[in-house]
Amino acid sequence: MLDRILRVNMTHLTVASEPLPQEYRYLAGRALTSRMVFDEVVPYAEPLGPYNKLIFACGLLAGTTISCANRLSIGAKSPLTGGIKESNAGGIAAYKMARLGYRAIVVEGLREDHARYLLVLNKNGGELRRADQLAGKGITEKAALLRQEFGANVGLILIGPAGEQRLLTAGIANNDPDGRPTRFSGRGGLGAVMGAKGLIGIVLDDTGCAPAEAARPDEFAAKGREFHQLLLNNPQTGEYFPKYGTAAMMEITNAIGGLPTRNFRTGRFAGADKLNGEALYQTIVSRGGAGRPTHACMPGCLVRCSNVYPDQEGREVVAPLEYETLGLLGSNLEIANLDVVAQANRLCNDYGVDTIEIGCAIGVAMEAGVLPFGDEDAFLKLMEEVVTGTYLGRIIASGCVVTAKVFGVRRIPAVKGQGMPAYEPRAIKGTAVTYATTAMGADHTAGNVARANVKHHLKDGQVALSQGAQIKIGMLDALGFCMMVAPALKDSTILAELVNARYGSSLTAQDLEQLTRQYLRTEKEFNRRAGFTAAHDRLPEHFYDEANPETGTVFDITDEELASLTF
Ligand code: SF4
Repeated sequence: MLDRILRVNMTHLTVASEPLPQEYRYLAGRALTSRMVFDEVVPYAEPLGPYNKLIFACGLLAGTTISCANRLSIGAKSPLTGGIKESNAGGIAAYKMARLGYRAIVVEGLREDHARYLLVLNKNGGELRRADQLAGKGITEKAALLRQEFGANVGLILIGPAGEQRLLTAGIANNDPDGRPTRFSGRGGLGAVMGAKGLIGIVLDDTGCAPAEAARPDEFAAKGREFHQLLLNNPQTGEYFPKYGTAAMMEITNAIGGLPTRNFRTGRFAGADKLNGEALYQTIVSRGGAGRPTHACMPGCLVRCSNVYPDQEGREVVAPLEYETLGLLGSNLEIANLDVVAQANRLCNDYGVDTIEIGCAIGVAMEAGVLPFGDEDAFLKLMEEVVTGTYLGRIIASGCVVTAKVFGVRRIPAVKGQGMPAYEPRAIKGTAVTYATTAMGADHTAGNVARANVKHHLKDGQVALSQGAQIKIGMLDALGFCMMVAPALKDSTILAELVNARYGSSLTAQDLEQLTRQYLRTEKEFNRRAGFTAAHDRLPEHFYDEANPETGTVFDITDEELASLTF
């Protein structure tokens, strides 16, 4: 099991299964998508053209109920950054994919005829079906129609209208255990790559498939229990995340002047107490109804950092409402209203766009005076323009760099073309080092250090801190784990032990680290061949010149120091 690759050619409309090459035996998740992009995509390929490939990969422990081990990685050359990209999400798709026996699904070729196709996978194999009836529909409606047709338990991977229109903020959604298609691989415009190929969705029906079996079942069960105890005993993964979710981060970032506010002009927001983890928790609990302060996005997750946000009548608005969205659609726009952010989040999800990139783009538009900071009505009106596809809406949905160029804004919070997540780079310098040096563009999921017990606004030690985080998170990405487990892991021994029990191997923690370093180097090498140089591994210049008013600091880590970060 888990030893097949499915190759889908959209030019010739063929679907073929092939064995996993021996050299990929221990590659999964981001390590596999990045290796396959490196091996199979020409570095100069046009991201929306026929030579780019979209690769879906599950983790090494996918298909089991080991907590947090069923992330779905999606990789390609990014139309947003022009470099290699991987974006991963929770949900049930990777779990189903593993039960169907696929380590990876590779989508190649192109359709120029505007036809829409659905890839349907079940225990008998896979086939492409015409799906023009789904064209232009929101992700919510697409998912409802497909669950009606294929059953309520299927896994779904979907793009929305934004992906079909090949917009640069388009992400790819998959569904959670309750069927909500709201777990997003949002970053890098990967939805546009899927749309360009004419693939509108993937249905994963694992009915009749045997569960993934471990090579050493008793050992696997014992190591699973040990890993779960680590999660339950750690204060963050056992108590804090289940209660407050990712939104708990806002108290931390706001306190240290690291919460992006007013297009990243400053790092502390006066309205943060209306958006933070406590506010979110109290609002959800007091409203009741469909609201849930804690929720598991995939089978077996014990951390349950997800939530269901209800309106005043207790009806579900969006699930989950997360820190990055609260930062980019909230504080960065000076919107101090959970209901407004939740409504905007819902619109983004249905249209299929990345809330981080949209928040950065609207922040830039606000700086240009297109609409005022803090104006809730104007913000929601602009969001309506985004999802109805007016010219202004399409500009916003093309990301923050395009928006800035259209409106003549020079303060662009982006690295390698990708908008920054909700960590202000002059206040949280280790995460900013990650923004600058990862092949992914500004991406906290490549190595966020905001929770580290260091003086975040000082430069000393930040390069090493970022490097360690990039390797640690990179390893979790490679195994298909959610990065929320990181606080519970002192080292990666238990991860190696789980893999060994599952596959009958004898990998060490050092082997996993070497494997991780190797694929991180591969990502950098792909970008180098695609035309990236050291000049791309830095922050926008205004962060070097203008101090964050809350910390009094600029980003002062030199290009030479950044270049010293290698894997
Ligand atoms: S910790 Fe959160 S994001 Fe991670 S698997 Fe669990 S619910 Fe999903």
